[in-house]
Amino acid sequence: MTEKAKAYQHQKQILALINLGLTPLILTLMAFSPYPAYLENSARAICPVWAGTFSLFFAFFSLSFLLLDLPLAFYSGYVLEKKYDLSTQTLASWFKDFIKRSFLGFGVSLGLLLALYGLILRDPQTWWLWAWAGFALFSYGVGKLFPVLIVPLFYKYGPVESESLKQRIAQLAARFGMAVEKIHSLNLSRTTRKANAAFMGIGKTKRVVLSDTLLAQFSEDEIEVVLAHELGHCRHHDIWRMFALNLVLSLISFRLVWMFLPAAAQRLGLDGPADMAGLPLLLLLFTAFSLVVQPLVHGISRRIETQADHFALQAMGSKDAFIRSMRKLALVNLADPDPHPLYEWFFYDHPAIRRRIAYAESLNLLA
Ligand SMILES: [Zn+2]
Repeated sequence: MTEKAKAYQHQKQILALINLGLTPLILTLMAFSPYPAYLENSARAICPVWAGTFSLFFAFFSLSFLLLDLPLAFYSGYVLEKKYDLSTQTLASWFKDFIKRSFLGFGVSLGLLLALYGLILRDPQTWWLWAWAGFALFSYGVGKLFPVLIVPLFYKYGPVESESLKQRIAQLAARFGMAVEKIHSLNLSRTTRKANAAFMGIGKTKRVVLSDTLLAQFSEDEIEVVLAHELGHCRHHDIWRMFALNLVLSLISFRLVWMFLPAAAQRLGLDGPADMAGLPLLLLLFTAFSLVVQPLVHGISRRIETQADHFALQAMGSKDAFIRSMRKLALVNLADPDPHPLYEWFFYDHPAIRRRIAYAESLNLLA
């Protein structure tokens, strides 16, 4: 690893740890303060209709949260990326994206929370089950629409330009039953010099996305191996496997929040679990659960990634391009090939690059 990558990763890790503590800290401070009740009363004074009060309350809440989170978001999202020459954005362009992301997040969260609190109000006994069913439908919708609705808000799809590369891609895709039209280039270079690739979408929206930064900096056989990895995700139905995991965990989390919320709300002096002033508490419970299960989710994700690597190595029949692509990925993205095992255990959804290379080297490929 270069000195530059080391310094970058060191800062990234510190920021990740701060970020890990910051959200629960802000939520805890808010939950134990009179601030949410004050926001609720102010919102009710402006609009006494429940949905209106809730929407205003959530707008005030989100704005407060955003302001507290902004310094860290700005530093890690813009300053650090600029400092290490990874970002290609101007400050104005970064800020525009940030506002867009914030509004999008606000709109979606408001819709979900209105529905959730509506359910808690209507049916204090079984809301968790309905909320879970609704959340499952929502997740399915997001999985399906993400590549066609959300991605185009920030990036543009394009074709793969090079003819010889296009041919190689078409051949590889055909071998594994994927139409070549489903392989897109994406102008990630609008925001970063980092390279990336992904498999996303469900049914008709299913696609492999290769960043233009990857296409520009990787050789044809390296790109082929990255594509083979993504095709591995497709063949292994990894979107459905992660979706199933998500369903199980979200069911447990809704049920646990349902169990703990009434007593916790009472202790904080709220008017029951449906009191909107309890929103920081509700979010804190969900956040705590997701932090507890994060190592499990990431562990499963790393396994799935190793299986996709295995698929790619078998499909290519050689390790050489795979290992070169991994080294280049580390170089281009200033990745830490060998993070502390504890850090990897908690934060990494892909195995560390040194592990991925070691895995490839350990394989006995049958030609
Ligand atoms: Zn992958």
